Amino acid sequence: MKSIKTTFIMAALSVAVTASAGNPFFDAYKTPHQTIPFNEIKTEHFLPAFEEAMKQQTQEVSAIVNNPQTPSFENTIVALEHTGRMLNKVSSPFFNLLGSETTDELQAIAEKVSPLLTEHSNSISLNEKLFARVKVVYDQKDKLKLTTEQQMLLQNTYDGFADNGANLSESDKAIYRELSKDLNMLSLQYGQNVLKETNKYSLLITDKSLLTGLPADVLDMLALNAKKAEKTGWMLNLKATTYTPFMKYAENRDLRRELYIAYNTRCMTGGEFDNREIVRKIANDRLKIANLLGHKSYADYVLKHRMAENKKNVYDLLDKLLTAYKPAAEKEYAEVQAYADAHGAYFKLQPWDWSYYSEKLKDEKYAINDELLKPYFELENVKKGVFGLATKLYGIHFTKNPRIPVYNPEVTAYDVTDENGKYLAVLYTDFHPRDGKRAGAWMNDFKAQWMEGKIDSRPQITIVMNFTRPTSTKPALLTFDELTTFLHEFGHSLHGMLTKCTYESLSGTNVYRDFVELPSQIMENWGSEKEFLDGFATNYLTSEKIPAELITKIKASENFNVAYLCLRQ
Ligand SMILES: [Zn+2]
Repeated sequence: MKSIKTTFIMAALSVAVTASAGNPFFDAYKTPHQTIPFNEIKTEHFLPAFEEAMKQQTQEVSAIVNNPQTPSFENTIVALEHTGRMLNKVSSPFFNLLGSETTDELQAIAEKVSPLLTEHSNSISLNEKLFARVKVVYDQKDKLKLTTEQQMLLQNTYDGFADNGANLSESDKAIYRELSKDLNMLSLQYGQNVLKETNKYSLLITDKSLLTGLPADVLDMLALNAKKAEKTGWMLNLKATTYTPFMKYAENRDLRRELYIAYNTRCMTGGEFDNREIVRKIANDRLKIANLLGHKSYADYVLKHRMAENKKNVYDLLDKLLTAYKPAAEKEYAEVQAYADAHGAYFKLQPWDWSYYSEKLKDEKYAINDELLKPYFELENVKKGVFGLATKLYGIHFTKNPRIPVYNPEVTAYDVTDENGKYLAVLYTDFHPRDGKRAGAWMNDFKAQWMEGKIDSRPQITIVMNFTRPTSTKPALLTFDELTTFLHEFGHSLHGMLTKCTYESLSGTNVYRDFVELPSQIMENWGSEKEFLDGFATNYLTSEKIPAELITKIKASENFNVAYLCLRQ
């Protein structure tokens, strides 16, 4: 049982299950490591596969419920854990593609399938007979002599029912079903609106003088944006690779303001992609669900499964941070304002001025900026550096495997092996922004890890970024922030790749949300280590190694404006 926990037979779905012929989801994959055959999957395969997968899990659950034997850990908890494998097989590629390679057709399927999945999941977690069996096992948990991992599985399974309404009355269960269905649909719409509104915006500049201050690389990228849209000039958009450097470097204050407002008011200025009503509804649904389950607020409800445990601990930490950071942040703010005043600003700094003057001040104080560092962070070199770090730390190796199908030519798949050359995982990397990709960076799995008897079924992991593209004249050169992001997501991917659990629902990054950032934070710290940078950071034009002095500057500037950034966060 992963995120999708249940079943229902979809009478409403008119697509017949005869559509299995030629549908790759209905067969075992014949690809290397049984990776997803993206080259064979067509959009129309998803719906019938989802339908069949839900039907299968429903039958699997029925078999558990109707088992005449007394409920035991094996015949109930483990059996339930093993249900829904086909559903995961379909869901993983579907939801990954929805994030990184979406189309209108995929989004339409998501809208259709989302309520069905919720209903399916509810039909499992609200199944009284099933819950009764789980409860029998749970009530004897102290006598069962379970391993730590088994205890965790039992607790999670029990909570998975209790936190999803299993203890509710019949009428409240019906309310819960409606609310959760509504909530899932709203979340889906929210994300789709953000992507559509982000893609909708573009601003063509034909007068180059409006772009004073932008480095040559950024200008090249803006020209490339325009060319892609079959226009001449320089095109601004709201993708991070355009927005972030523009806010840092563009001298033209009006344009900075224009872009800032466009970016920060996405989906809240009316129009078809407005999210304000959706946000209101999400907040209301969450509160209603929390109340229904006996919690005062949604925060109380979700914190049950966090290391933080309760609201008091969260606010205590936030208050401590506020006390510690506020005086420092005020000092930082005053310093940037003073710098701006001394450099011709006749105004109180506005949000769209902050990056611009901060960057200039940083340059003045530490003689360091993105443009100085980028030539040392050519993507191919960075990849070697990051992979090499994992080899050094954990003895694992990465070999490109072109026989593994990918969903976009920009995606690369690697065989990952351990120090003895034994297969450990598949890693997919997807580095650059596209219209079908949502913003940000993330790690996910295409297949989780689990043990089947003595056989260790290894995971397939993906990391997805939105890094600066190569231009017509230059390879992809990363900023220091992008290098840090790479290390961060790579840290998550290590968590996913190195996992060794018995049960799928506990493996990899299936840990508390406020624990999951640990491996990523650890990996981020390597970004400014001389030993790490020395291994790969050479100038892509001259092959000159990154000067020691530059690394010292990176270190020195590491804490620049961090108090301000922490407060903003
Ligand atoms: Zn993270």
